[in-house]
Amino acid sequence: MELLYEAATVHREHHDPNTVQVSTLLSIKTGGCPEDCGYCPQAARYHTDIEGNDLMTVQQVKAQALRAKASGSSRVCMGAAWRNVKDGPEFDQVLEMVRTINKLDMEVCCTLGMLTENQAKRLAEAGLYAYNHNLDTSEDYYKDVISTRAFQDRLDTIDNVRKSNVTVCSGGIIGMGEKLEDRAGMLVALASLNPQPESVPINALVAVEGTPMEDMEPVSIWEMVRMVATTRIVMPETQVRLSAGRTEMSREGQAMCFFAGANSIFAGDKLLTTPNPDVNEDMEMFELLGLNPQKPFIKISQPKTVEAEDSQLVPLGEKPKWTRPNHTIERNEVAKEKSKLVSKE
Ligand code: SF4
Repeated sequence: MELLYEAATVHREHHDPNTVQVSTLLSIKTGGCPEDCGYCPQAARYHTDIEGNDLMTVQQVKAQALRAKASGSSRVCMGAAWRNVKDGPEFDQVLEMVRTINKLDMEVCCTLGMLTENQAKRLAEAGLYAYNHNLDTSEDYYKDVISTRAFQDRLDTIDNVRKSNVTVCSGGIIGMGEKLEDRAGMLVALASLNPQPESVPINALVAVEGTPMEDMEPVSIWEMVRMVATTRIVMPETQVRLSAGRTEMSREGQAMCFFAGANSIFAGDKLLTTPNPDVNEDMEMFELLGLNPQKPFIKISQPKTVEAEDSQLVPLGEKPKWTRPNHTIERNEVAKEKSKLVSKE
């Protein structure tokens, strides 16, 4: 309860608590990926039911983006199951998709794997608003999840994105067998990026048959709420995205996540390849909770730049210098004032 109270307070200090961004995730090239991410049904080496698709055409993407806009999305995120971006006709096609969606007055995000500085700049010139590249988990646990590339490769790509004027979206997944320390370690790594990512997706593992993580226990809603709340506190200005795993959450559970500081969801019946709640169900939930979809290109706040002298973030293993604000004391003070008033009466 203390964690929730603190997270909700931070959230209200930095964001409109009744505005939630709705984004649509499109898988523009599905399956056949050479990587070995243990959670991913798109890895070619795992035997899953995923139907692979070649790169979509610009017209197909435009049609889907228009549909997403009509149903309230302000952002389209295009995902391709690639290890890294290769210069050539396929990348040129993606650049054209970015230009096309940009003209629809929607934010465009891409998640295409590892990226060079030059490729990030080309995407920026095409009008890309955000690039997603998740850290996935802590540096310590990373090698238990993926062996085909290193944690440092992730950081290098994020660094390349930062050299352009594209915003950074980076988060991770819980429920992959990691320890609590790994969840904290991931948040420390994200919150220590300077500046912090503008967007942080928090995913609950969707265990897909045929992947090495098929037998993982589902993440409880309380773990999700705790993760969202902690993310909100350590990255106050970031857009915290409630991502994969929402089909398993009740409306009450999602409401707790919004209260704890989540201010974005992904809409559409699929999240790349895993199930997601229906758009109409989401809109009903918004109405019930009094939430409004966020308009595109609204910069709610500037991402926090970590200044060395006032940084509250310290490397793992070192003791933090800051102490939690003691809201209990504040509330006791309020209670005392109230009782004074009552005794006067
Ligand atoms: S998460 Fe991305 S990089 Fe990893 S296997 Fe899936 S598509 Fe490939």
